[in-house]
Amino acid sequence: MKKALIHVKNSIKFFILVFIAICIITGIVAFFFKPIYSVTINGEQVGYIKNKTGLQKRINTYMEKGDDSSGNIAFIQLDKLPEYKLCLLKKDIECNDEEIFNKIIATGTTYYKYFAILDNQEEKQYVKDIETAEAIVEELKEKSSTNIDNLTIMEKYETELQEFSDKDTAVAGLYQQPVAVVAKAKTTTKVKAAGSVNTSLTTSGQKISLGIALVRPVSGKITSRFGAKSSIRKSVHTGLDIAASSGTPYAAAAAGTVTFAGYKGSYGNLIVITHANGVQTYYGHSSKIYVSVGENVSQGETIGAVGSTGNSTGPHLHFEVRVNGVAYNPQNYVY
Ligand SMILES: [Zn+2]
Repeated sequence: MKKALIHVKNSIKFFILVFIAICIITGIVAFFFKPIYSVTINGEQVGYIKNKTGLQKRINTYMEKGDDSSGNIAFIQLDKLPEYKLCLLKKDIECNDEEIFNKIIATGTTYYKYFAILDNQEEKQYVKDIETAEAIVEELKEKSSTNIDNLTIMEKYETELQEFSDKDTAVAGLYQQPVAVVAKAKTTTKVKAAGSVNTSLTTSGQKISLGIALVRPVSGKITSRFGAKSSIRKSVHTGLDIAASSGTPYAAAAAGTVTFAGYKGSYGNLIVITHANGVQTYYGHSSKIYVSVGENVSQGETIGAVGSTGNSTGPHLHFEVRVNGVAYNPQNYVY
């Protein structure tokens, strides 16, 4: 009984001693050392920081807005995020949170946001904000230029800041006097040369005879009709949108020659087929293109696959019918 009591007493003594030892060691460590973070970028140790949470918050804010002196920074992409390692170091070691923050952001790529005004899918003018872009399109509508049907606004993110046009410069650059358009219309009777996508086009609600029959390139739900307006497209729709799941093959509406096959602005991956009588069909937003320029295709032949490339919010085929460059309602001929 007595023996057991001595044993308990000894155990208590032992634990007290251990506790005191721990306190002394902790005290010494706290006196001479401090917990700080060693920061590594891309495998290279760049220094030490005190406040990890603070630095991470700063980096996140920076990635969202940058220093925003231009007012057009969309976001900043950091290729390599820093790595942190907690360590105990002597108190006299230098911490430089500011310097490390600057080193981290120096590895970033800045993306600028701006708006392009496109005339028939071709970027013509760049402006700083959506308000300016909309004001330009509005003013051109008031001038009732016959060329405005193909004006679209596209939001862009680029690593290089474009030179912006002010409202008047952009309007002047896009506005064509009606007389000039009439003169041009007279010369469009000849069939366009193959190999390029037309750049000065208009739309027409007229129903004219194509002289050739068209078949449906793909079946699916029609999600946007010719002439429709939408929030992502600030002017009337030059084609017909047919929804189908990505990868669905689509066919040539008629026999012809491939005159464009590649990426084209908001069309994304585009195929243009030139048929007889100056008729062309456009197939936009493709996920795959199976044909190349110069190739002859037959009616109903698979030429590409439905996708969502370019200015598109979901997989669909954007199908256009053009005659001498003017877009006509595809539903007058198919669907
Ligand atoms: Zn479309």
